[in-house]
Amino acid sequence: METILELEGGRLVIAVGDITSFDGIAIVNAANSGLLGGGGVDGAIHRAAGPALLEECRAVRSTQLPEGLPKGQAVATGAGKLRCGRVIHTAGPVWHGGHSGEPGELASCYRACLELARAEGIASIAFPAISTGAFGYPRSAAALIAREQAGAFLRANELPARVVFVFFSRVDAAAFIDATGGR
Ligand code: ADP
Repeated sequence: METILELEGGRLVIAVGDITSFDGIAIVNAANSGLLGGGGVDGAIHRAAGPALLEECRAVRSTQLPEGLPKGQAVATGAGKLRCGRVIHTAGPVWHGGHSGEPGELASCYRACLELARAEGIASIAFPAISTGAFGYPRSAAALIAREQAGAFLRANELPARVVFVFFSRVDAAAFIDATGGR
């Protein structure tokens, strides 16, 4: 994973790479409400983690979340064979044009993951660009929300000490930096 930019005094890192290789404590999965896997980063995480992750997700569904994970909320599991120890699953909004509550739901995803990480004492956490793949959220609009939520949370809390935004390509990282002005 390659660091592109450091923000918030080095506590917010913009990086390019495959989130499944993150060597910190936790990664966020841009999951869906069903929690039983999917395409994109969700599929990559389940493939890299192995069947233990799906088993844990099934257990969460049958005990804590029989109706699935509500949009904008987060739930943590172990990480199977991944290098990190925890996966925090969140269900981002599907983009329907921006007037169906998508910005609030996306902001809520970031906050819920960060709050869960803090509650678990997690020092470092990596996020993919939630909702910007199959769910169609425009990258620049999503970037502003992610930047604002991470910045506010880091300034108000000591944990997590380090948040990494992992982009799958340099073009995606550049789009984030463009949208946020690199600040
Ligand atoms: P969503 O359904 O929330 O839109 P996707 O997985 O389709 O989720 O896409 C979310 C983002 O994750 C996209 O920007 C995509 O480029 C990125 N992505 C896909 N695979 C990986 C990976 N292995 N590591 C980091 N980011 C990834």
